[in-house]
Amino acid sequence: MHEEIAAQLVGSEVDYFAGAGSMFFSNRKDGYNYLDSLTSKGFNIDTVELSSEVHFPQKYGYLLAPDAMPKMVEGRGDFLPRATRQAIEYLSQDPDGFFLMVEGSQIDWGGHENNSEYLISELIDFDQAIGVGLDFAEKDQNTLVIVTADHETGGFTLSARIIQSADTSMMGMESDYDSISPTFSTGGHSATLIPVFAWGPGSDEFSGIYQNTAIFDKMMSAVNSPQ
Ligand SMILES: [Zn+2]
Repeated sequence: MHEEIAAQLVGSEVDYFAGAGSMFFSNRKDGYNYLDSLTSKGFNIDTVELSSEVHFPQKYGYLLAPDAMPKMVEGRGDFLPRATRQAIEYLSQDPDGFFLMVEGSQIDWGGHENNSEYLISELIDFDQAIGVGLDFAEKDQNTLVIVTADHETGGFTLSARIIQSADTSMMGMESDYDSISPTFSTGGHSATLIPVFAWGPGSDEFSGIYQNTAIFDKMMSAVNSPQ
């Protein structure tokens, strides 16, 4: 699947991307070297670090690890908010406007592991990236920011911690509503409703409850509506 996504990226009209997974481009079962293909499509490819300057309309691709980026708890640092800032700096040079997708991809992985420390640290990192987007949108005054997820993972709940009851007549356990215990109900994805937050022109269209596929249509009508 990863190799397929790499192939789709090469065939797409993306101008900038930053992340990891260089092995899915250059160490493939089909023998293609898609890093070479990207270079011949005009991309500046870097597998070490984000470059200090980006100039539109040159193209940039960053694949900063062979497989996955490190977890936040293992020292990824500010990669995601920094790449978000750079992507906006780059794309906002395009007079035609831009579409940028930023994913906090390891929130899902923390959920699969039922590891609340992993999940929460990734969520906080994603929150930093959202802040970068909102700062730009606030200044620009003509940018729509949408924050959502494709699904929930792990059945994650902030429930009350279960403690030994102090009241001997209660016999056993009770909930301590003064402390939180992150709990999970599955190692997979769940059907929990997921929030959609939107800020900027067209944001009213994103309220209410709807199918996840409606997000696409709502985005398209926001892009196509007259400014
Ligand atoms: Zn998943």
